This record gives sequence, C-alpha cells and structure tokens, in this order.
Amino acid sequence: ETFFAPGDGERFRVTFSDVGGMDALKEEIRLKIIYPLQHPELYKAYGRRTGGGILLYGPPGCGKTLLLRATAGEVACNYFAIGLHEIFDPYYGSIERNLHQIFETARANTPCVLVFDEIDSLAPNRRDVRDTQTRNIVNQFLSELDGLRGENQRILVIGATNSPWQLDPALRRPGRFDQAIFVPPPDESARLQIIKLLSKGKPIAQLDDTMLAQATAGFSGADLRWVFDRAAELALADALHAGKTVPIRMESLIQIAQSHTPSTNAW
Ligand code: ATP
Repeated sequence: ETFFAPGDGERFRVTFSDVGGMDALKEEIRLKIIYPLQHPELYKAYGRRTGGGILLYGPPGCGKTLLLRATAGEVACNYFAIGLHEIFDPYYGSIERNLHQIFETARANTPCVLVFDEIDSLAPNRRDVRDTQTRNIVNQFLSELDGLRGENQRILVIGATNSPWQLDPALRRPGRFDQAIFVPPPDESARLQIIKLLSKGKPIAQLDDTMLAQATAGFSGADLRWVFDRAAELALADALHAGKTVPIRMESLIQIAQSHTPSTNAW
C-alpha cells in the first residue's frame, strides 16, 4: 500500500561516526532532535514540547542528508525519507493523496523521523506561484503539519533545503518548522575529519591529510568525496594497466583539488 519503506534497514545503518567533524552541530541535534524523541515524558514533565518541525538549511553537499540519516541511526527509530518524485509521481496517486498517505504512515510508525528533502520545491512561497495546484499542495502540506500538533505523537518532521529564502513563510510559523539548524560548509578541522573518513582503508601513498585539509578551503563534503573518487579512478586505471595495486598518490589528490571549484563559494 505504501510506496516507501522505513529506513534502509540495519545493514545500511549510518550513525554520527560516519559524519566527519560538526561536533557542535551533532550536539545541537542531540538536544533538539534525539533526546526529545527518546525521552518525551521527561520533556513533557518540564513543559517542553516534543515533535514539530525542524528545518536544516545550508549550501549543497555539506552533509544535510547524511546528518539526517545518521540522526535516525542514532535514535534507531523509523526514518522516512521523502523524495519529491514520490510525492509528485502520478503513478502513486494524486499529489494530495500521496502527501496525506505519508503522514498517515508516519502516524502508524511512531517514533519516527519524517524527512522532506528539497522542501523548497514542495512548499515554495505561494506569493511566487501562479498555478493553483502548487498552491493547493502547499496548503495541504501546512494542514498536514498542523494535524500533528499537540498530539505529542513522537513524529519529528525535518525539512532540508539549499534555498531557505524560497520557502513559503507560513512554513516557519510556531508549531510548524519553527526551529532551524544551519549546516555550514566544513571548516578546516571538519575537512580533516571528512578526509580521514574518505581515506580510511584505501591504498594511499604518503597521505598528508592536514595539508589536504588546508588546500581545500571552501570544499563541501561532497566536493571532497569527488576529489577522492577521481583520484581513485586514476590509480585504478594504473592498477589495471600494471596488473597490481597502485596506490593513490598525494600529488594526484592535490592536483585534482586544485582543478576543482569549491561548490560552496556561490552560496
Ligand atoms: P544537497 O543539499 O546537495 O542534497 P546535502 O547537504 O544534503 O546536499 P549530502 O547529500 O548529505 O549533502 O552530502 C553529499 C555527500 O558528501 C555525502 O553522501 C557524503 O559522502 C559526503 N559528505 C558531506 N558531508 C560529509 C561529512 N561531514 N562527513 C562525511 N561525508 C560527508
């Protein structure tokens, strides 16, 4: 009946240890997301609300999606990642019906985290939208969110976006996405941690991870991953040619990084 399944199963469980750096952010997520889900009674006893929505925003490729998966992995609760294609695909039914179904499924699977990626496309500012269908979708999304309010149902709704300024402002009203968490580009120490994760277990000759972290200012986690993937491809081509393992070269990593324009520059 439903067209999406909870989580990715234990096999692909991702946790905070898979996310490089961002210690302050992980702590913020523990306080705002994880503890309220784990100890709703305690929060209630102190008059603190649980549930409701949180918006994650920041430049592309800096780990929003990864952080959300890891958050669900930390809580070990159900995780519904809603892609736009699932909502907008007419195969599954009308958009309104799909949206409603998503919230129904969440209600039936508490505690859970319900994640809307690219939420700016789902709920663009109605002021900028002409067609009535999009307006109807935004309206319905808002009323589904309101339907969760006050019930303390242990459903946490999270939206992720690269362009928060395109969102309908009604989304940010109290009880909807009233908390926001900024996911910044990784600083040098975060890049070092990401580089350590990306290089783990790979054959790399004389890796100077500190130097690479210094040479990649402005790089997102996704940019860093791209650099490692390119360098691995080169070494793999050499290895196929030589008929034996050829390590990834440090110069190769640096050269590829230097030829790449960091994607967080324009944000
Ligand atoms: P977008 O808005 O473009 O979807 P995003 O902020 O959601 O971007 P992710 O999709 O989470 O970014 O990151 C892309 C990839 O970059 C991840 O799958 C991961 O491989 C790598 N990455 C990004 N940040 C980190 C990090 N802090 N630690 C480890 N890997 C990272």
